[in-house]
Amino acid sequence: MHVLVIGAGVIGMTTAWALARDGHQVTVLDAGPEPASGASHANGAQLSYSYVAPLAGPSIWKDLPKLLFGRDAPVRFRPGLDLRQYRWGLRFLAACTAGKARRTTQALLRLAFLSRDVLADARDLQALDFDHVQAGKLVVYSSAESFAAAAAQARFQNTLGCKQDVLDAAACLALEPALRPIAGRLVGGIFTPDDAAADPRKLCHGLLHLLEGHNNGVAFHFNTPVIRLLREGQRLVGVETANGRFRADAYVLAGGIQSVALAQGIGLELPLYPIKGYSLTLDIANENAAPRVSVTDYGNKVVYARLGQKLRVAGMADIVGADMALEPDRVAQLSRQAAATFPVAAPEAAQQPWCGLRPATPSGRPILGHSGIDGLWLNVGHGALGLTLAFGSAASIAAGIAGRPEPLDMADFALHA
Ligand SMILES: Cc1cc2nc3c(=O)[nH]c(=O)nc-3n(C[C@H](O)[C@H](O)[C@H](O)COP(=O)(O)OP(=O)(O)OC[C@H]3O[C@@H](n4cnc5c(N)ncnc54)[C@H](O)[C@@H]3O)c2cc1C
Repeated sequence: MHVLVIGAGVIGMTTAWALARDGHQVTVLDAGPEPASGASHANGAQLSYSYVAPLAGPSIWKDLPKLLFGRDAPVRFRPGLDLRQYRWGLRFLAACTAGKARRTTQALLRLAFLSRDVLADARDLQALDFDHVQAGKLVVYSSAESFAAAAAQARFQNTLGCKQDVLDAAACLALEPALRPIAGRLVGGIFTPDDAAADPRKLCHGLLHLLEGHNNGVAFHFNTPVIRLLREGQRLVGVETANGRFRADAYVLAGGIQSVALAQGIGLELPLYPIKGYSLTLDIANENAAPRVSVTDYGNKVVYARLGQKLRVAGMADIVGADMALEPDRVAQLSRQAAATFPVAAPEAAQQPWCGLRPATPSGRPILGHSGIDGLWLNVGHGALGLTLAFGSAASIAAGIAGRPEPLDMADFALHA
C-alpha cells in the first residue's frame, strides 16, 4: 500500500519508520526544510515513560492560583478572541477530576510502555546516535504537600507496573550530587530508573538517513506545505501542496498543532490547543555541576536532561495562542532557574533559546486511529509527551493500517473518547 504521512516531526518520522517496516511504500511531506522543525526540534528530551500524569488533574484547582500568579509562574494565560481557546479551556477543566485523571494515567502508561518496548526491540535504531541514555529520572519537590501527593501517585503507579522509588532529600542528593545548590529547599523526590533521555532532533535526522536508505525507499519532500486535504464524499483522495497534488492509498495526519487547520478544511474538529514552552541548550563547562540523571524540578515545572556534553533545560506552559515569539522575560526566567539549580555553563556562554507549541488535547491523551473518513488516520495531540509516546503511537497506527490487531486498546485514544 502507498501511505502518505503529513509531518516530519517525531510523530510523523516514527510513523514513517513503522510503516516502512511493514513493507509499505511511504511518502512524507513537511512544510519545513528538514525533519523536526516544529515542536520536536529542541524539546525537553525526556523519555518519561512512567511520569505521564496529565496536567488535567484534581490538584489543578488548588495549584492554579500559584501556577498562574506565583512569582515566576510557570503557566501563563493570555485570553484572546479565539473561541477555541475557551472551548478547550472548559473541556480541560471538565477533565480535572480524579476519575478522569486516573483513566488518562492508565491509558498513557500503556502507550508509554509500548513505546519503550518498541524502541528497545528495534535493532535498526540501536546504531543511530541520538544521545539516548537510560539514566533514570528524578522528580524533586520543594513542598511537603506536593511530595505527599506524588508519593501517593507513585504508589498507585506501582500497582500498574511502574518501578518508582520514593526518596527523602538525603537520598535525592546521594543519587544526584549535582542537586547540591538546591539542597536547602529539597523535601524529597520520586526516582524512576527506567526513564531515559534522547535528543528528538537527532532522532528525527537519524530516522531520515535510515529511511532514505531503506529497501522500500521512503520518499521525503521538505519545503512542501500541504495547503489542503482533498475529500470526496466520505473518502480522502489526495492532498494539495505548494508543489502540486499527491495521492496515496492511505494518509496519516501527523502535523502537530497545524493538523487542526488541515482537518478543519474537511469538516473534522480536532480538540487541540497550542501550549507554548521554552528550552535552552547549554554547553557543559562545569562537569561537577551537571546532573547525570534527568531531573524535573516540580515546583518550578522545569525539566533538565543530559544530552552528551550539553544540558537541555525546558519549561513553561503558556496558553497564548499559536504565538512563536521568543519572549525575553520567559527566556530570562528559565535561564535564572537553570543557573540557580545546575550552574553548568560559563557565564557568557550561548544558551540557544528556543520555543515550541505542544499540540495538547484537554484530557492529555493523544488522538490515535482512524478518523472516520475513509483513508485518513490520525496521529496527533501528544501534548507534553510526544517524544515519550512516539514509537507506541506509530506502532498502533501501523497495526491499524495493516489490519492487524492493535497492540493496545485504542478506545481511550479515539477522536471522540
Ligand atoms: C518546551 C517543550 C518541551 C517538551 N518536552 C518534552 C519532553 O521532554 N518529552 C516529551 O516526550 N515531549 C516533550 N514535548 C512535547 C513534544 O515536543 C511534542 O509532543 C512533539 O514534538 C509533537 O510532535 P509532532 O510530530 O506531533 O509535532 P511537530 O514536531 O510540531 O511536527 C509537526 C510537523 O508537521 C509539519 N507540518 C505542519 N503543518 C504542515 C503542513 N500543512 N504541511 C506539511 N507539513 C506540515 C511541521 O513542519 C512539523 O515538522 C515538549 C514540547 C515543548 C514545546
